[in-house]
Amino acid sequence: MLETFLINILFLILPVLLVVIFFDSYQNKFLSLYITFFSSISMILCMIYPFKLEIGFIVDLRYVPFILVALYGGYKRVFPMYVILNIYRLLIGGEGLLQSFVFSTVIFIAVPMLSKKFTGYNTNKRMMTGVTVALMTMLFYLLTLLSFFDELTKEYWTLAFYALTTHAIVIGLNLSMIEKIISNFNKRENFLRAERLHVMSELSASVSHEIRNPLTVTNGFLQLLKVSKTINPEDKVYIEFALKELVRAETILNDYLAFAKPQSVHMVHSNLKEEMEYVKNVLMPYAKLNNVEIVYQFSNSLMKKYDQNQMKQCLINLLKNAIEAMKEEGGTLSIRVFEQKKNIVICVKDEGIGMSKEEVLQLGKPYYSTKTEGTGLGMLMVFGTISKLKGKIDVQSKKSEGTTFTIKIPT
Ligand code: ADP
Ligand code: MG
Repeated sequence: MLETFLINILFLILPVLLVVIFFDSYQNKFLSLYITFFSSISMILCMIYPFKLEIGFIVDLRYVPFILVALYGGYKRVFPMYVILNIYRLLIGGEGLLQSFVFSTVIFIAVPMLSKKFTGYNTNKRMMTGVTVALMTMLFYLLTLLSFFDELTKEYWTLAFYALTTHAIVIGLNLSMIEKIISNFNKRENFLRAERLHVMSELSASVSHEIRNPLTVTNGFLQLLKVSKTINPEDKVYIEFALKELVRAETILNDYLAFAKPQSVHMVHSNLKEEMEYVKNVLMPYAKLNNVEIVYQFSNSLMKKYDQNQMKQCLINLLKNAIEAMKEEGGTLSIRVFEQKKNIVICVKDEGIGMSKEEVLQLGKPYYSTKTEGTGLGMLMVFGTISKLKGKIDVQSKKSEGTTFTIKIPT
């Protein structure tokens, strides 16, 4: 009995182990393919080495990998497993073929339905849900078995006991490993991001400050040339071009400078109301131009110490992106600021083009931009500012549906 248990555990942690060894982030294209493949193998192995109870019944753990993939991956990922399970079951043949098919179909339809909610939960809730789903599956299985029993014998209860405990233990073990891996991946990602920010801020502080002065001087001289009478109007077109490019250079520097050590530190202890309203008013014309309607709600009384200019710039970057995402079709930009358990929460929701999972992971990398005129520095500055305040940024996005940024700043 113990040997079977141990060998089953080995099968079930095999996919997890391989992922840790061969993958170092979720960005790998083959990751989900890989997981489905090895989970299928571990499912088959579980069926080959079932628990043979002394009372003559057989219990196996085939639904553990199945449920895990269904919960984390949804219908798309678990469908191949569903097919493989039934093909393999067909090959073994024997009694209960139809029951097995019907049972797996019910599980296949029911469990992935939870997937969307499941992936949004936090670790503890996911653990609870996973174990509950496994137990429910087994209870359902035991119910279907009832048709084979005329009365509830001692054998039935023994079977029930073994089925439920092994499933709960094994899925709990697997879930805790998977969750740990996810948290390690995230930690590494955050660490890299923090490191990048650090390097950027050091570099940009020194460079951008030096460049700004010559730019201002050049701008001044060009303005003078523009009104000069000795230059003919055709050549003045070039001056216009030069000025335009200067303005562009300045916007890039503004993103940089605000991100770097602020020039004029202006620390305030406030609740963000002034900054929010300022930013909203600044961006109102830009929103109108792009057919974007701004819905604004403010209900926060918590105070926090922050650099006012930096905060304004950070909010501008965030809202500008949201408006730019809705450039094509317009839409509603909803900005909500509220308090939640000693946290100031800023929620910015747009109905724009949205981003894929991969694109969300790219956010905040220097020069990452999908826009022709983009600098790819805006989000970097947003992440920098918020991380200085020990805040967290959560991004929920769906391609062509929209994006929600939720920023939580502890007070
Ligand atoms: P830029 O705006 O100059 O391109 P950012 O750092 O501000 O640079 O943004 C980087 C990229 O992140 C954008 O090019 C865009 O692809 C993506 N992005 C940021 N915010 C949103 C959003 N609200 N909706 C869709 N994509 C976004
Ligand atoms: Mg931007």
